[in-house]
Amino acid sequence: MTRAVLKFGGTSVASPTALESVARIVASHKGDRVVVVSATAGTTDALHLAAREAEQGRAAEAERVMQDISKAHANLAADLLGVNGGETMEMITELTQRTVGLLHSVAVLRECTARTLDAIVTYGEHVSAPLIAALLKARGVKAEYVSAEGLIITDDAFGHANPLMDETKRRVQATLLPRLKDGVVPVVTGYAASTAEGVTTTLGRGGSDYSAAVLAAALNADELQIFTDVSGVMSADPRIVNGAKPLAKMSYAEAAELAYFGAKVIHPRTVLPAIEARIPVRILNTFAPADAGTTITADPVFDGSVVKATTSLGGLGLITVQGAGMSGVPGFAARVFDTTAAEKVSVLMISQSSSENSICLVVPAGSTERLKPALERMFSAELRRHDVERVDVDTPVAIVAAVGEGMRGTPGVAARVFGALGRAKVNVMAIAQGSSELNISLVVSEPDREKAVRAIHEEFHRS
Ligand code: ADP
Ligand code: ASP
Ligand code: MG
Repeated sequence: MTRAVLKFGGTSVASPTALESVARIVASHKGDRVVVVSATAGTTDALHLAAREAEQGRAAEAERVMQDISKAHANLAADLLGVNGGETMEMITELTQRTVGLLHSVAVLRECTARTLDAIVTYGEHVSAPLIAALLKARGVKAEYVSAEGLIITDDAFGHANPLMDETKRRVQATLLPRLKDGVVPVVTGYAASTAEGVTTTLGRGGSDYSAAVLAAALNADELQIFTDVSGVMSADPRIVNGAKPLAKMSYAEAAELAYFGAKVIHPRTVLPAIEARIPVRILNTFAPADAGTTITADPVFDGSVVKATTSLGGLGLITVQGAGMSGVPGFAARVFDTTAAEKVSVLMISQSSSENSICLVVPAGSTERLKPALERMFSAELRRHDVERVDVDTPVAIVAAVGEGMRGTPGVAARVFGALGRAKVNVMAIAQGSSELNISLVVSEPDREKAVRAIHEEFHRS
């Protein structure tokens, strides 16, 4: 008997039509299956908004947001379950009251700690999972709601907690295996987890994919199926490129690279637990379940393509530390990175010109305001001596990345990328190539971002 973990994302669980499709997919799946669900699309964002309102002392606004979310779920339950939805309705009311209570406490204290926030924002999965379990039961599937709290055990890094695999594996096997043996389909909350003591944590935004990968690894599943609203990983974000095509196969390395550079379709950390357990991951479409989708496997996939996909990540800033006196000075780059570390700024891309006259860092746009003065402080002596000329900031910028195993050892790829960008009149502000030769990434100004993605895609995917 095969065993699969099926994860359904936000848009897959947000409407009666989508949910009926989910029920059909789960019902027709042969073999053992565990279902993992996200909150309905937009709910987690709204919960974060409610928490921010409460933190500003606006309890009434926070409560209004909660009532809207609650009503949307009650409507879904009424549509799908009709008169059989009594228990689900009660569950929604109870959870809403609890979360409103938390928001009131936040409003009184005017403080929302990361720990409290996790307790608030997991409302979305805590209502969607039992709702979907009830729907599956109503459609003839022996399903049971299982909270991931007490099941996926993490450290206490609230907001982006890390699963503790040994303990998680023990609990997952003890809880889920007997159910699978009885033919029950567990419906587990994505995103949410808990510490060993039972305090609610979350796995980071978009973390339901991660939850599903952790469960797949803990259960030694044969396959992890991630159902979303597109038919697999595409050669570019379909919202940017009309002619983007789904890719049949890609390697974990390619998928991780794509995810890192903005292809939101899979969560970067998803890749890890699955890679380690060598479980194939399939990205499938809830709305077109017969489509082949994309299969992601551990080994490189050479399909004759050079650039397999083009992706982009916006909302960034480019910081350039420039000066002739930097060349050959040992420890210079180290001081740049000491500064970013001290400011707790994550660096997405680094590039240094061969003359060592400048070093460029790409960081989240919001962090440039504190990073520039921090770098100026770090290099104040060099600035006075003009060994460092200046610290420049360009914002907003975007990283555009071309990714593919076929680039390794293929000459002329960079020339084609830059030729295409030149013809599209896109100015490239910085360049980096991963040493794996799996990607070429470059920085462009935010207004040029979509044009750049389309130009590179057109160059390599003209059919
Ligand atoms: P879910 O709610 O199911 O987790 P997400 O919104 O997180 O779905 O991810 C799916 C979305 O990712 C798609 O609707 C698509 O717009 C976007 N996306 C970005 N880049 C790509 C890509 N290269 N291939 C497929 N989808 C992409
Ligand atoms: N609901 C969570 C989020 O929106 C997790 C997920 O959907 O994967 O971030
Ligand atoms: Mg997602």
